[in-house]
Amino acid sequence: MTGDAETTCAFCRILRGELTPGVVAFRDAHVAVFPSLLQQPRNRGHMLVVPVRHVAGIYGVDAEIAGPLMTTLSRVASAVKKAFGAEGVTIRQNSDRAGGQDVFHLHFHVIPRFNRDEFVAIDRKLGAMEIAIEERIEQAKRLAAVL
Ligand SMILES: [Zn+2]
Repeated sequence: MTGDAETTCAFCRILRGELTPGVVAFRDAHVAVFPSLLQQPRNRGHMLVVPVRHVAGIYGVDAEIAGPLMTTLSRVASAVKKAFGAEGVTIRQNSDRAGGQDVFHLHFHVIPRFNRDEFVAIDRKLGAMEIAIEERIEQAKRLAAVL
C-alpha cells in the first residue's frame, strides 16, 4: 500500500528506480545510500543515508530503523573516507523547513571533509551545485566498492 507521500517523494522514487537509476550505492531491508544531488565543489562524494521505508523526518524514527540507520551511518562514514580520500566527515540531519530540510523523507548527510575545505553548509547560495547523474553513478560505484 502506497500513500501519496511515497508516490511523489523524490527519495522513494529513487528507491523504486523511477528517478536517477544507478545511483543507489547500498541497500538492505531497512536502509539505503546514494549520493546527494547538491554537493559543494570541495566536498564531492557527499552521501545520503535514508530509511527504505518512507519516514518524513527524525521525529518518526522507531526501533526498527534506528539501529540499522546508525550502523549504516558508521559504515558509510568509514567508506566515504576511503572512497574519496577524505580526511574527516561531517554527518548532518536537517529537520523541518526551519531546520533546512528540503526533502521530507528522513536523510542523514555524510559529507567528506578535508583540512581547510571551509565547508559551511549544503546551500546553493554558498556554492553547492547539482551534480550530473554520471558523476553521481560514479560516486555510488566508488562507495559501493569499499562498503
Ligand atoms: Zn519517501
